[in-house]
Amino acid sequence: MTELGDNTHPIQVPAWRRIVVKLSGEALMGTRSHGLDQDTLARFAADLTNTAARGVEVAVVVGGGNFFRGIEGADKGIERARADSIGMLATVMNALALEYAIEKQGQAARALSALPMPALCEAYSRQAALHHLEKGRIVVLAGGTGNPFFTTDTGAALRGAELSCDLIMKATQVDGVYSADPKRDPTATRYDQLTHAEAIAKNLAVMDTAAFALARENRIPILVFSIKQPGAILAALEGRGKATLVLP
Ligand code: UDP
Repeated sequence: MTELGDNTHPIQVPAWRRIVVKLSGEALMGTRSHGLDQDTLARFAADLTNTAARGVEVAVVVGGGNFFRGIEGADKGIERARADSIGMLATVMNALALEYAIEKQGQAARALSALPMPALCEAYSRQAALHHLEKGRIVVLAGGTGNPFFTTDTGAALRGAELSCDLIMKATQVDGVYSADPKRDPTATRYDQLTHAEAIAKNLAVMDTAAFALARENRIPILVFSIKQPGAILAALEGRGKATLVLP
């Protein structure tokens, strides 16, 4: 048991052994309107490196929304499965950039893609991911689930389950799960803690329902936290600051 610096935080036992962090494409673009922001990448890479240095095995699932989202492509007339293929390719670009940013911190990292692209990175397999995690490498998971009609949130829940992660860390722009979108509704209230079933029933849009359902079925807690401040991942993991813990 670790002493908490701030007793508003729901985590009481930050003894996580292996985690999967979901970073959206939006987070990787920093204050830009699209693409990648190098300072932001360096900040996340340092945060992930510091987290791994605590002895936690770290997998990261990256989104692709800073380049392309399938649903938006479909709205513009591209067939959905093809648009999602483009979206998955966007996540590979982000994974390659993050892998490099982590290596620049002096921390070993491996990008693994659910869509095999041997010229660019290793293909994802559970065995390869577990091997790298056990060696202390940060594993950057590209391509989501490898299937259209899914999101990288569901990819994070899937990888969290198959890699036996103790925790899914969902990085967002706000400090937890709210009853409504706090950017639009000033009366929105924040939850310190709730269950997966409540999140699904209340239709709280922080992760898609498939991701919540998969996490619930496999009894994996989800920590929803804000990625805005430097060091946010380690702070959330260590119980500093505000966050929402979603428990089975
Ligand atoms: N995608 C997909 N299958 C997956 C994960 C992602 O087809 O398992 C596609 C989908 O088009 C999605 C895009 O990749 O819009 C980028 O992922 P996501 O929207 O989850 O990224 P984020 O919003 O987190 O940046």
